[in-house]
Amino acid sequence: SPSQGYYTRRGGVGESGDFITSPEISQVFGELIGIWYISEWMAMGKPSTFQLVELGPGRGTLTEDILRVFKQLSSVLSKCDVSVHLVEVSPKLSEIQAVMLTGQKVQPSPEDESAYMKGISKTGIPIFWYRDIQDVPPGYSFYIAHEFFDALPIHKFQRTEKGWREVLVDIDPEVPDQLRFVLSPSRTPATQNFIQPEETRDHVEVCPEAGVIVQRLASRIEKDGGAALVADYGHDGTKTDTFRGFQNHKLHDVLSAPGTADLTADVDFSYLRKMAQGKTATLGPIKQREFLKNMGIDLRLQVLLQNSGDTATREQLLHSYDMLMNPEKMGDRFNFFALLPHHRLVHPDKKDTPDSKSLLPPVAGFHELLLK
Ligand code: SAH
Repeated sequence: SPSQGYYTRRGGVGESGDFITSPEISQVFGELIGIWYISEWMAMGKPSTFQLVELGPGRGTLTEDILRVFKQLSSVLSKCDVSVHLVEVSPKLSEIQAVMLTGQKVQPSPEDESAYMKGISKTGIPIFWYRDIQDVPPGYSFYIAHEFFDALPIHKFQRTEKGWREVLVDIDPEVPDQLRFVLSPSRTPATQNFIQPEETRDHVEVCPEAGVIVQRLASRIEKDGGAALVADYGHDGTKTDTFRGFQNHKLHDVLSAPGTADLTADVDFSYLRKMAQGKTATLGPIKQREFLKNMGIDLRLQVLLQNSGDTATREQLLHSYDMLMNPEKMGDRFNFFALLPHHRLVHPDKKDTPDSKSLLPPVAGFHELLLK
């Protein structure tokens, strides 16, 4: 909701907010993602220009960490024209992002431009803000969506003896100001449109908005090139009832005080894969623990530990590594998933030969990174 929605009113990402995310836990997370883009940019023949597009940038920390890597590797990227494009609906968070990334050098855009705000990063890269992915200009782009899809609204469905019914929100007639869940008395347009015919679960959550966005990403990558990395907690079409709320880092009843808590549902990667509709290839989901390990997190941790003199910093580094990697914490619950042009995985001229894949460099993160 543009007026009463959680992200437009509150949007509490970070330690002082309602939930904490990986980029807020450790700079290493964003750095390794920055390296992923450079690795893909090189594997795709170093195009002379690319757009880094982030969906739902939160406080802007992830893009900040990625841009630091781009700066550090500027000799590699030197001839490449890079621009940053942020898709953000929250006025409050876009201001926080502007301060983080530009140190406040931003200006609102004229009405006739598709971006609502623009500025220059501290490292000299142009940054644009949009409300919708459709407003981002076409062009070779690397997309990142971290903890974005889980924030989008879902439909919930329950299989009954009479067929699929939609779980709806109703006003409790017994208790004033109290909401409750009810089952639709009959089929609804959503039960007819959003449930896959081959569905075997008894309870399903579907996020059609995520489907539409993935379709757009896949079309854009197919047409203009690039790649998308999606990282989120989720499953590959196995989980059922995952809808929940968070306030001040504690579970919160989703039906109480709407608009004041972060509402979230696990991302169904099998649905995202389906929605790519074969326009691109997909990789994953692969567990965060494996992805970061393949990206060289252990080596990066060793370097940071060696470079840090004081015990408190070293403890902080080890603690954040544990948060990201421990299977009981984020290591197993978070997944990485990628959309890539077909030719990135299968050589177009050698499609039918058995070694069609071995001719191409492996995609970092999804395979072990080869450090040359
Ligand atoms: N990626 C960040 C923040 C995740 S929170 C991190 O990992 O720390 C979700 C983000 O998506 C917030 O920035 C929120 O304002 C934004 N968002 C939520 N719904 C959106 C929508 N429909 N379109 C664009 N951005 C949205």
